[in-house]
Amino acid sequence: MSFIQKMIKKTEEIAHAASDLAHHNVVPPEVSSERFAICKSCEHFFEPTATCKKCGCFMAAKTKLKWVECPVGKWGKYDEAMDRSKTESA
Ligand code: SF4
Repeated sequence: MSFIQKMIKKTEEIAHAASDLAHHNVVPPEVSSERFAICKSCEHFFEPTATCKKCGCFMAAKTKLKWVECPVGKWGKYDEAMDRSKTESA
């Protein structure tokens, strides 16, 4: 993938993220809190800016998005169906 293609892809992801955040299409608060706690204890977390050194994202925002995942596999995409089944069995 060329530099230009990477820039276009990143721009599309930022637009998608901004739209989801603006429309409150986000994970439940307990999920984003759990993800953010994992980030805060991660060796790739850069505390002064609360960003990830692997992906460069602002983690307070990224941890709220349903379709994203940790670049090194510490947390995954949000599975709404799985979350619903947990709630129903509780
Ligand atoms: S997204 Fe993953 S690699 Fe980045 S700070 Fe969070 S846990 Fe660490």
